[in-house]
Amino acid sequence: MIPVTGATVTVGVIGDPVRHSLSPTLHNAAFDALGVDARSLAFPVADGDGPAAVDAMRVLGIRGLSVTMPHKEAVLAAADRCAVQAEALAAANCLINDDGVITAHNTDGDGLVRSLRVENDTDPSGACVVVLGAGGAARSVIEALGRAGAADVVVVNRTEARAERAAALAGPVGRVGSVDAIVEADIVINATAVGMDGVSSPSPVGSFTASQTVVDLIYRPLSTPWLTAARGAGANAMNGVGMLLHQAAIQLELWTGINAPIDAMRDSVADAIG
Ligand code: NAP
Repeated sequence: MIPVTGATVTVGVIGDPVRHSLSPTLHNAAFDALGVDARSLAFPVADGDGPAAVDAMRVLGIRGLSVTMPHKEAVLAAADRCAVQAEALAAANCLINDDGVITAHNTDGDGLVRSLRVENDTDPSGACVVVLGAGGAARSVIEALGRAGAADVVVVNRTEARAERAAALAGPVGRVGSVDAIVEADIVINATAVGMDGVSSPSPVGSFTASQTVVDLIYRPLSTPWLTAARGAGANAMNGVGMLLHQAAIQLELWTGINAPIDAMRDSVADAIG
């Protein structure tokens, strides 16, 4: 680890709560592996103070921030520029400071797509995908799947009006459907919070096949009954660590312009959450 001096570059994560965030763990592991003189810190920022945190970036010369709840929408309005993903989603999870000009990005969906390719050897281009959920995580995934060339993106959600709005993010390939679509899908993604209790499942667990890729975005716990059932059916199954890892890797690349040291980052998550 390079000693912290007056020249050390500062990045961080803002949120409320934020102490549980794995962003500093991931980004500091990357800086160490790369020999980059930068450190990431967690900054607790109260609801409503997101725009003030954007101003603080300019005043303090903070190079980049990861952004978590409840600031993802508010920081967008306070930024000077906006990447296409953040604009489509009306939410940002990453900010970059270029000499006082702040650009808002959203790396969540691209993180999921990259994790499918890198961690799971699955290309969503041309695939039929079922996404369960229509909240923030689902919206970012649906938008990225549309850009990645998925052939069909079926959104299944408890609240149908939210499903309609989320499906539109995939463009012409997005549509609302039901859990019946799972059996025909190439890729099935749980982007609901159902399963975090370690007991419940977001869809019937008997619908998986051995030819499918199944992703549960949940990573606490590391496995869910739903993912266990997918593995039992012979599916190519992956938990939410992959998306967590690769959205952070894309953030690091935006801040530094250097390819992320993905093995070091993966090891740091494994040490932190098992
Ligand atoms: P969110 O915005 O609050 O959305 C929650 C979603 O879950 C909504 O679609 C909601 O449906 C659905 N839901 C909640 N309880 C339900 C229930 N009892 N039955 C049916 N549907 C239910 O949350 P989020 O930020 O999108 O997070 C969703 C999940 O993704 C969480 O498990 C989170 O840990 C995970 N996540 C993972 C990563 C990663 O990097 N791996 C990143 C972000 C989030 P309604 O619309 O009907 O309310």
